Amino acid sequence: MNTSDEIEVRHRILIIDDNPVIHDDFRKALAGDAECTEALKQDEAILFGTQETGRMDFVLDSAYQGEEGLAKVKAAIAEGRPYSLAFVDIRMPPGWDGVETISRIREVDPTLQTVICTAFSDYSWSGIRNRLGNSDSLLILKKPFDNIEAIQLANAMTRKWLLNRRAEAKMSDLERMVAARTVELQTANQQLRREVDERAKAEEAFRVIFQASPVGITLMDPQGRYVDVNPAFEQQHGVRKAQILGGDCTRAGIIDAESFQALLRNLATAGSINGQEIAYVHPEEGERVALVWARKVVIGDSLHNLGFLLDITARKRAEEEILRAQKAAEAASKAKGEFLANMSHEIRTPINGILGFTQLTLGTELTAEQRDYLETVESCTTSLLTIIGDILDFSKIEAGRVELEQTSFSLRGCVEDACRALEATAQQKGLELSCSVATGEGDMVIGDPHRLRQVILNLIGNAVKFTPSGSIRVSARTQPSRRPECRVELSVQDTGIGIPADRRADIFEPFRQGEGSTTRKYGGTGLGLAICAQLVEKMGGKIWVESEEGRGSTFHFTVVLRSAASGNSLGAERAWGEDDAPPLSILVAEDNRESQTLISTLLRHRGHTVTAAATGSEALAALEHQVFDVALIDIQMPEMDGLEVTGRLRQHELTTRRHVPVIAVTAHAMKGDRERCLEAGMDEYISKPIDAKELFARIAAVVVPQRLAAAGTR
Ligand code: ADP
Repeated sequence: MNTSDEIEVRHRILIIDDNPVIHDDFRKALAGDAECTEALKQDEAILFGTQETGRMDFVLDSAYQGEEGLAKVKAAIAEGRPYSLAFVDIRMPPGWDGVETISRIREVDPTLQTVICTAFSDYSWSGIRNRLGNSDSLLILKKPFDNIEAIQLANAMTRKWLLNRRAEAKMSDLERMVAARTVELQTANQQLRREVDERAKAEEAFRVIFQASPVGITLMDPQGRYVDVNPAFEQQHGVRKAQILGGDCTRAGIIDAESFQALLRNLATAGSINGQEIAYVHPEEGERVALVWARKVVIGDSLHNLGFLLDITARKRAEEEILRAQKAAEAASKAKGEFLANMSHEIRTPINGILGFTQLTLGTELTAEQRDYLETVESCTTSLLTIIGDILDFSKIEAGRVELEQTSFSLRGCVEDACRALEATAQQKGLELSCSVATGEGDMVIGDPHRLRQVILNLIGNAVKFTPSGSIRVSARTQPSRRPECRVELSVQDTGIGIPADRRADIFEPFRQGEGSTTRKYGGTGLGLAICAQLVEKMGGKIWVESEEGRGSTFHFTVVLRSAASGNSLGAERAWGEDDAPPLSILVAEDNRESQTLISTLLRHRGHTVTAAATGSEALAALEHQVFDVALIDIQMPEMDGLEVTGRLRQHELTTRRHVPVIAVTAHAMKGDRERCLEAGMDEYISKPIDAKELFARIAAVVVPQRLAAAGTR
């Protein structure tokens, strides 16, 4: 359909009449000079905003029968240039009459304006109306017609047609616009509906998550009043949502006001809370613990606090339970360790006696058979002592009862000493034992020479034990490190049986041995390397092994010591050789008869004079009445212990103005013993079982400086 702007204003008029004269009359009247009705034009201008002026143009067509007229109307419509008006004669023999023609034409073009031209009344007006209906697009023109009348009719009817068409077109423009707008609105509406649906689904999903979450979720206003809580929260806290909404957790008695205010403050300052632990109260289950996460969120246009609470009470209780069990296990293990330490100590004292006296007896005149038996006793006792020593050491380390000494010593001396100690054993097996020490200027160090020696001895001992033939190489070197620290690297390499790869990781664990068959063949407790590992760790280092089965093993370890200036106590120990030690007057205060005899005999064999005391009071009395070069005082003695004896001696010395060096003799090296002894005024410290060499070194260490000082003052 045309739009309102496209409608042509040159009107086509069809004249249907069987009389050609009538056609001419119309042509003369209409085609000549048809006047435009100004009023109609003005109406049109007002209605459609058009600015047409000037004459109205008519284009006339003729048809001489009704059927022909209908055909022309159809053709004009098909062409898109329909007629505005048709003048139709009422009588047109032999074809359709005017009424029939108009009614047929109307079927194809209902908008066409029609004028029935009639000479005399074939039909009455009401007859025509009855046939064609009451229509404002049908007029009657009486023949003979007046030209003006025809022009007026043509103008009015065509103008009316035009206005109708334009109104229709305008209408259809509007309908099109409405339809387009409707489509737009429908699309927008569908989009909106989809968004609403999606939002509803998202809200539903959030609601489901909120409801089903096993973690408690709360929404609070900035003042900390509950706005919403989920079922997990209700369950966790044993409250109903309706009870607490609008109130805060202090009102529901969930947490105390102070903790709650602290939480709110934290949230305000940090902006969030991440996994903070809080204690809260459940009405039936009592105190519980939860982890809290909180965030500030904006909902609508107001600020809220969103909180998540995870109840960790069960986990916390399980942890506490584990901790309790662990403490109990540790206590049990400590008790076991203490028991082992005490037992092995108790066993070691008599064994020590056996060994000492065996050695003393071996120094007397014996038959070859007796010597042989006694040497067997000595060797068995030495093995037993080693095993007991290992167990004691291990349990002492386990119980945390081993304190490292801090004495200055020569690293070279320590390593070479250890090698010398096992040289004979290696030689007996036909093994070559070599020792290389590259310590340079860092040879003097501060640390525990006895424990370091113990580790080296253990490794060389193992190397000798597990090497049927070949050699053992011990090497030590200091590594440059930040003074005063001194890092020492040591290794013991052998050409022995090696260690299977799957056992290498285990051998530093207590009671683990290479494999069943070697254990049976070589014996041992499986404690040696465990002790080494723990001692090395205590000395700030680590131990590891490289090994190849059948080719040998190399044990490496490191320790961190402190560098020391030369001219130390070990220097003093070495100031006296075995033969040039001067005879000394020594007090031996010891309540254990065997130990007393053993120490006294060792000293007397060296040419020293020994005075023995069996109790603390006896010792003090002797010290107050006699002059000694050195006193060996046992810590644990009846009546008065060694610490008290020393204290009183030091008091007494304030008047005599002499200083008798005191060496503490302790049963077992308890943590802090050394410090306690030195604090009590003792000068040195030696633990049982007494090693003869160590005993003489300690005596030299306290007596030599005194002698040197005395010589200097003389
Ligand atoms: P043990 O008292 O059995 O010697 P250790 O703790 O000293 O206990 O050693 C544990 C195990 O490590 C030994 O049983 C042995 O199998 C293995 N082992 C230690 N040193 C060597 C070595 N130098 N060569 C081969 N195997 C070794």
